[in-house]
Amino acid sequence: MSQTGQDDRLAATLKQYFGHDTFRPMQREIIEAVCDGRDSFVIMPTGGGKSLCYQLPALMGEGTTVVISPLIALMQDQVAQLQQNGIRATLINSTLGRDEAFDRERRAIQGEYDLIYLAPERLMSTSGSRLLRQLDVARFAIDECHCISEWGHDFRPEYRMLGQLRDQFAGRFSDTPIVALTATATPRVREDILAQLHLRDPAVYLGDFERSNLNYELRPKKDMLRQVGAYLKANPLHEGIIYCQSRRKCEEMAEKLQASGVSAVPYHAGLDASVREQNQHDFIYGDKRVVCATIAFGMGVDKPDVRFVIHADMPRSLEGYYQETGRAGRDGLPADCIFFYSGGDRGKVEHFIEQKEDEEERKHAYWQLQQVVSFAHATGCRMPLLLGYFGQEHTGSCGHCDNCSAPPKLLDVTVHAQKLLSAIIRTGQRFGVGHVIKVLRGSKEQRVLDYGHDQLSVYGIGADQPDGHWRQLAEQLIHDGTIGTSADQFRTLHLTPESKDILKGDREITMPISTIAAQSGSSRRSTAQDDDLGPIDSELFEKLRALRKQLADEQGVPPYVVFGDKSLRQMAASLPMDDEGFLAVSGVGQTKLDKYGPAFMGVIREHEPANS
Ligand code: ADP
Ligand code: ZN
Repeated sequence: MSQTGQDDRLAATLKQYFGHDTFRPMQREIIEAVCDGRDSFVIMPTGGGKSLCYQLPALMGEGTTVVISPLIALMQDQVAQLQQNGIRATLINSTLGRDEAFDRERRAIQGEYDLIYLAPERLMSTSGSRLLRQLDVARFAIDECHCISEWGHDFRPEYRMLGQLRDQFAGRFSDTPIVALTATATPRVREDILAQLHLRDPAVYLGDFERSNLNYELRPKKDMLRQVGAYLKANPLHEGIIYCQSRRKCEEMAEKLQASGVSAVPYHAGLDASVREQNQHDFIYGDKRVVCATIAFGMGVDKPDVRFVIHADMPRSLEGYYQETGRAGRDGLPADCIFFYSGGDRGKVEHFIEQKEDEEERKHAYWQLQQVVSFAHATGCRMPLLLGYFGQEHTGSCGHCDNCSAPPKLLDVTVHAQKLLSAIIRTGQRFGVGHVIKVLRGSKEQRVLDYGHDQLSVYGIGADQPDGHWRQLAEQLIHDGTIGTSADQFRTLHLTPESKDILKGDREITMPISTIAAQSGSSRRSTAQDDDLGPIDSELFEKLRALRKQLADEQGVPPYVVFGDKSLRQMAASLPMDDEGFLAVSGVGQTKLDKYGPAFMGVIREHEPANS
């Protein structure tokens, strides 16, 4: 078939089954390679549209695509979505009864499915091998493939066995193509994945990790509950996740939100499995608006309409922070990532790091923490720091972080920097930030007096500025390398060659006016890209949402499986009243038109009697 012929067929299938009019960046290339039977390795951010890269090829040729996925919830979600789109897909896992599993296997062997989802341990089990030996396997798709690597953060021993796919089964699959996909892989993990899966001359696709629909913002942490409450009140339709450091805090936050009239549930590893599952379910199905969670929450949650991710506490690494915020706005609509920062949180994390026994681990954890602090203190665009962590360059001026949308005002603090450096020198370069600031501010604490530091010329020369100001300045100078810190837990301060220029008055130092303190945030307008629909009729949107929820509940699926917010927004904007118009809505394919068109168009006609 000619290239254009193939292109047309791909585009037509995309619309017919998935309801999308265009491919996202890289999707077409990847899909063509996969259809050609090439081993492929796809690294794309969350929400990038990885699933389509094996789901669409599954519809294009002979045989069945076998998808390996680590979590039952993920499989169920994907299969439900595929079935809603009229695609022949199923899953076989331990939740099925023996007869049901056997029946599905039999039908699979008869070629009744284009896609079968399997848990990794199933694949290598007796029943799995029996199935695979008789199945016409078109390709293997290995989702969340970073789980195979011990170097990654989600290692799953069951994934290890996938390395034997090609050698076992009497070589039956030695030529069967493999597509491996992940949203997270540092260079070391990437290499490990390639090696372990024995990918042959794979086409490697590394997507752009910048998510321009995510609005990154830092806010000073003061009274969390009031701050979160204000955000929720200002954005009454937003559903989202609040990440907290401890189990207790998750509980507390959920309880208090609940008491203030916001439906919220906690989620953490300390809860009973059944409670945890129920809470996750309630959030995914839109029955609860907020989930207050530890980092135990996230994997396996594919809810595309998460409108905010709030960090109530300091994340431990930028990698974790990126993954967690990445759960917002998978549907491509604007979403908010708000980080409530407090210098005091740093101490808490340090305390936690100190509990680690292993010296190397401790060092690494300190380094990771320092990256987070640098990110928080950045005075320019935040993207270079965030993406740089994954080895992606960014030139700055992203336009969707707080520093881009409202550049901080700068204050000349050269004299303050000189005072701070002098205090470090006078106290012998043997003390940490806390002590040096106490001396500067003229503290009468016993420890200061014991060292005789109240006798120093620098004692009290910084009393006119609050503690937070000095801390912020110190962090900034540590961050840019002007002040050095010892590598141990004491983090004692010392001068560097760069310090001299400041002391001599050759270098000017500026600091954003109370970076973190000046922005109350609430009036800040989101600058993340919009979906160009302009204002929509929110009353109609509400009605469409209600209908969606009702139809979803009837079938026992999450609302987004019926339609995403994007589709509803388009309906509310374009007011389709016939099949052609309805089919033009993004996310509407033939099956969904037949199944839901009449009901949704009914609501639209009723709402807009004048136009119909
Ligand atoms: P990932 O697995 O990379 O996190 P998904 O495959 O779950 O991403 O896709 C994320 C969202 O993007 C889903 O809601 C999906 O329907 C949507 N999507 C994927 N491809 C397209 C496309 N070509 N056009 C519009 N929406 C798309
Ligand atoms: Zn920016």
